[in-house]
Amino acid sequence: MKRDILIVGGGFAGASTAFHLSQSFSGSILLIEREEIPGFHASGRNASLVLQSTPDPDIRRAVVASRQAYLEHRSRVPASDHGSLHLGKKESLEKLRDLDLFASEYRDPEEIHRQIPLLKGHSFENALWTSTDGSMDISVLLQFYLEGARSRGVEVWLDCELLQVDGKGTYRVETSRGTVETSCLVNAAGAWACQVAEKAGAARIPLVPSKRHLFVLDTDEKIDPDWPFVWDQDCSFYFRPESGGLLFSICDEEETDNLAPTVNPEISESLAELVWQRLPALRQATQREVWSCFRTKPPDASFVIGWDLAADNFFWVAGLGGHGVGASWEIGRLAAAGLQDSTRRQPDCFPPARFSAAQ
Ligand SMILES: Cc1cc2nc3c(=O)[nH]c(=O)nc-3n(C[C@H](O)[C@H](O)[C@H](O)COP(=O)(O)OP(=O)(O)OC[C@H]3O[C@@H](n4cnc5c(N)ncnc54)[C@H](O)[C@@H]3O)c2cc1C
Repeated sequence: MKRDILIVGGGFAGASTAFHLSQSFSGSILLIEREEIPGFHASGRNASLVLQSTPDPDIRRAVVASRQAYLEHRSRVPASDHGSLHLGKKESLEKLRDLDLFASEYRDPEEIHRQIPLLKGHSFENALWTSTDGSMDISVLLQFYLEGARSRGVEVWLDCELLQVDGKGTYRVETSRGTVETSCLVNAAGAWACQVAEKAGAARIPLVPSKRHLFVLDTDEKIDPDWPFVWDQDCSFYFRPESGGLLFSICDEEETDNLAPTVNPEISESLAELVWQRLPALRQATQREVWSCFRTKPPDASFVIGWDLAADNFFWVAGLGGHGVGASWEIGRLAAAGLQDSTRRQPDCFPPARFSAAQ
């Protein structure tokens, strides 16, 4: 069978690309996803933050633009705008501010201790408040993209794995559900993007998956569901309210080739150590749940969106690092625009060609 465009991966990269592409592309589009449940890996199991205050200016712009789109689709995709509080030294926090794009202001640490008593006993120099940060319902957002794409004719095959790729420019792709011929292969395979690229003879872009854990903690301390998410830049932890408890990350980062989402046996000890040293109000908290998933990024920690330089008709939507939710709308929009650009030039933001010297 033949399809004009074959997208590999049904996380935010692939789903948002399919959603946007299907609005203007009239040819046939097939999206394949290895798992039975889309989002089983990073996209459905992350912290769901929409974080505009982040150091990379291009990513900031992508998150700000995406947030605007999320506001416009609020009736279909629930979001919460409880803001963010970044704690830390002024020089760490200044890198996150972008007063041209969104307003952030410093708050008195004493006032923050009163607002969020869980921080009692934790000392920090400054608190940067961004009222327009927030979080999304990630499973609804992912379904919104996939259903939108389906309603405009995109075929979505779940439980379908790309196994092998033959050909150059026109690809014969062997999948677990048969062979598909395509003249455009879109690599949205998240932590597996380098494996897909290698199969297709595309450039070696140094994308590195690293494992990170998330915990849900229960505590007798009062948790207000309207709290902002709190991110300590210097002590490396963040948390936000989650179904009566706290979603908590110790910002661990373990680079690995083993892409099984197993839980590191020492991780609960690392959490206990951090809580003991930094957050005395959480010392009695219990762990309701813990899991791991993968963030994948290149050395400059920016996205990779555009045409490959080594393989014809091979397009990257990868390296989304820790911003695949916050920036998902814009990622798919940029990818769809790049895929339909007849000049096939490298884009100004996130070009794959920036790695060509390293090959
Ligand atoms: C702990 C943690 C917390 C995070 N918190 C946030 C946050 O708060 N805010 C935020 O913006 N981002 C966050 N992220 C990052 C976000 O989750 C990712 O940027 C995003 O989900 C990546 O999307 P993706 O589509 O590139 O990858 P994925 O979601 O992994 O999707 C890729 C898909 O490709 C499929 N695939 C791979 N190989 C094949 C193949 N051969 N054939 C068929 N299908 C294949 C996989 O099964 C997978 O479903 C977090 C990440 C982690 C790990």
